[in-house]
Amino acid sequence: MNKTSDSTLNSLYHAVVKRNPGESEFHQAVREVFDSLGPVLRKYPEFGTHKIIERICEPERQIIFRVPWQDDAGQVQINRGFRVQFNSALGPFKGGLRFHPSVYLGIIKFLGFEQIFKNALTGLPIGGAKGGSDFDPKGRSDDEIMRFCQSFMTALHRNLGEHSDVPAGDIGVGTREIGYLFGQYKRLTGRYESGTFTGKGLDWGGAKVRKEATGYGAVFFLREMLAARGDTIEGKTCIVSGAGNVAIYAIEKLQQLGGKVVACSDSRGFIHDAHGLDLDLIKEIREVERHGIEEYVAHHKRASYTPNRRLWHVPCQIALPCATQNELGGDDATTLVQNGCIAVAEGANMPVTPDGMRILLNAGIAFGPGKAANAGGVATSALEMQQNASRDTWDFEFTETRLAEIMKGIHRRCHETAEEFGTPGNYVKGANTAGFIRVARAMVALGLI
Ligand code: GLU
Repeated sequence: MNKTSDSTLNSLYHAVVKRNPGESEFHQAVREVFDSLGPVLRKYPEFGTHKIIERICEPERQIIFRVPWQDDAGQVQINRGFRVQFNSALGPFKGGLRFHPSVYLGIIKFLGFEQIFKNALTGLPIGGAKGGSDFDPKGRSDDEIMRFCQSFMTALHRNLGEHSDVPAGDIGVGTREIGYLFGQYKRLTGRYESGTFTGKGLDWGGAKVRKEATGYGAVFFLREMLAARGDTIEGKTCIVSGAGNVAIYAIEKLQQLGGKVVACSDSRGFIHDAHGLDLDLIKEIREVERHGIEEYVAHHKRASYTPNRRLWHVPCQIALPCATQNELGGDDATTLVQNGCIAVAEGANMPVTPDGMRILLNAGIAFGPGKAANAGGVATSALEMQQNASRDTWDFEFTETRLAEIMKGIHRRCHETAEEFGTPGNYVKGANTAGFIRVARAMVALGLI
């Protein structure tokens, strides 16, 4: 019995690899979910009959388009745009846009695939999607960013809508980009349809706490994991990779809850400040000046900057990878364990490699996978959609309380499901299983679509 479903899953996995050649990140995301599904298929044989797994691995629609634009020197530039509308069984397609030179179909599909289960875990009515472009915003002027966003939206706008597909930000896409995208959408459709985008500015339909939500949410999830072990964040030494939106607000919430954050990084290196990071300065460097994190040491002589190196060897009890996929490997995980780390929560999408995850789980570290730990961003996007639909705005405290409750709910769902399926304390299995079951049941209920 056990063997049958495991060998079924194995051959399904090989079929996915064969059908989607060269998309290694997508394969990795699928493998991780499949590794949790054996017991689910045994408990719900109808999921097999309805071919839910085969259907869930095939996006409902994939849109790939040319994005031509002109740079400031008058040169024509061509990028490739993507929107993968993966699954809408639970609600309109929902998920961010990523602008980064590493983007290709395999990255968007891994992100879209994870988004299905992440969104399901929130308990809110949102399907899964992702999009983006291989456009590199680094070093581009405001005008160039605007022209790129306008061209991107000209190609994509017919496929979006508050009841069909609702994009948001991700790496390289923040409020500025959402503004240009929404502006062009409004111009092309002639409709002020706020609910078609989330992550908007506070002056034009955005929600309070959306900017902070992914980072805050990751720390709320971490707090729940520690509470389940009778522990707290108070007094713990923490390191956070990344210096973007997720990392900055994870650091803020860790500090508010009494954690001491001593290191963070960007794509070029990391800073270490044993006194605890000066977050106002980091915000100034990153959010206002849009500069590299190395500028920190010019203001604080006690701190050090290490170029071309990741920060995982800096001793800590809590580590939050908040930068990008596969940034924490097996060796890094071993170092964390040796240094006495007790908890890791993924603020980024799939930052820990399969090897790294195995090592952390085997060591008994509290490990919060991204699908659960970073779901606060998209959950608050759903709250933004609620506010837009009712033409209402909520205040910061109310929204943050809602976010904290949602993260508590996600933690509970993961915790209980892990226990029910015989792997207590394993949030990876809990998240994959609980997320999958919610989507699968909806797919069965909606018939063959
Ligand atoms: N890009 C974020 C994520 O990975 C947010 C998506 C959204 O708000 O739609 O979940």
